[in-house]
Amino acid sequence: MGPQASDRTCPVVTRLAPSPTGLLHLGHARSFALAWLHARSRGGRVVARIEDLDRERCKAALVDACLRDIAWLGLDWDGEPRVQSRSLEPYERACNELLARGHAYACTCTRAEIAALSAPHADDGEQRYLGTCRGRFASPDAARASTGRDSGLRLAVHPGPLVVHDELCGECSFDVAAEVGDFLIRRRDRAIAYQLAVVVDDALDGVTDVVRGDDLLPSAARQILLQRALGLPTPRYWHLPLVTDEHGARLSKRRGDIGLSQLRERGVDPRTVVAWIARSAGLERGPRPAAADLLAGFDLRALPRAPAALSSADLAALVP
Ligand code: GLU
Ligand code: ZN
Repeated sequence: MGPQASDRTCPVVTRLAPSPTGLLHLGHARSFALAWLHARSRGGRVVARIEDLDRERCKAALVDACLRDIAWLGLDWDGEPRVQSRSLEPYERACNELLARGHAYACTCTRAEIAALSAPHADDGEQRYLGTCRGRFASPDAARASTGRDSGLRLAVHPGPLVVHDELCGECSFDVAAEVGDFLIRRRDRAIAYQLAVVVDDALDGVTDVVRGDDLLPSAARQILLQRALGLPTPRYWHLPLVTDEHGARLSKRRGDIGLSQLRERGVDPRTVVAWIARSAGLERGPRPAAADLLAGFDLRALPRAPAALSSADLAALVP
C-alpha cells in the first residue's frame, strides 16, 4: 500500500472541483455541500478547482456560473480557485516523469482504431485499450519518426486487483487492466486527461480528503495507480451514494438536471436546497437552514449509505 494521508492530526483539506461543461445541478450541490461540511466542521480548508481541460466540452462562460452557484448555496473556499487550463506545466512535468520512469508510453492509435479492436465496456461505453503500442516506441519522438503521427500517453497498468479503501463504501476492488487497460494520461491532441490532472492537483493542493459522487469510484482506482507511479500520497476517499428519484432510478435529465442557476434566477431561497441536502443526509435542522447551520456535530461517517432520493414532494418544494 502506498503512503496514506491518514494522520488524523493533520487538518482536513478538501476540494470542490466542478467541470464547466454544464450548469451545476442538485447532485453537485449535495456533493459540494457535504464536502464543505466535512472540511469546515473540522476547521479544515476547502479549495475550489475548475476542471476545464477538456476544451471541446468546457465553456468559459460557465466558470463564473459554477462559482456563483457554489457561493449561492452558502459555501465558501480558501484562496483563488485553481483553473486547470491556466497552468499546464505541472501536468506536463508529471507526464515527463512517468515517461522517464517507464510508467507511461507513447500511443499513436486513433479512437477509431481502438474502437475497431475492442468491445465497448458494459457500463459507460468506455473502450478497453488492448496495449497495442506498449513497448512499441522508445519515446513520443520515436513514435512520430516511425509513424508520422502525434502520440498520446498511456499509463502502463499491471494486471490484478487494486483495492480502494473508501470511508463510506468500504473496500472496493477494481482490476483496472481488465476494465480499461492502459489508460490515457495525455491525449493525442496533448489535452491532459482528467485522471492525471486530478492526481497532480490533489497533491499540489495538499488534499487529504476527496468527497465526491460514487460515479467516480472506479476513477479512484486509476488515480491511486497514478499516485503510486508518481510517489504521491493517497487521500482519504469518501464516495457519496448517488441521488435518485423516488423510485430509486438515477436522476434523469428532466428531473435531476435542475440547474442551480435556474433556481437562483427564479428567486428560490438557497436554504430550501440546503434543507433538502440536510434531510437527505439524515440531518434535521428546520425548514430553512443555512449551510453553516449544519456544521455543529457534522459527521460524514454518519451519512446514510442508501442512495439519496429526490421525491416529487422535494421537487415541488424546490421548484414552486
Ligand atoms: N470535475 C469532476 C466532475 O464534475 C469531479 C472530479 C473529482 O471530484 O475528482 O464530475
Ligand atoms: Zn496505441
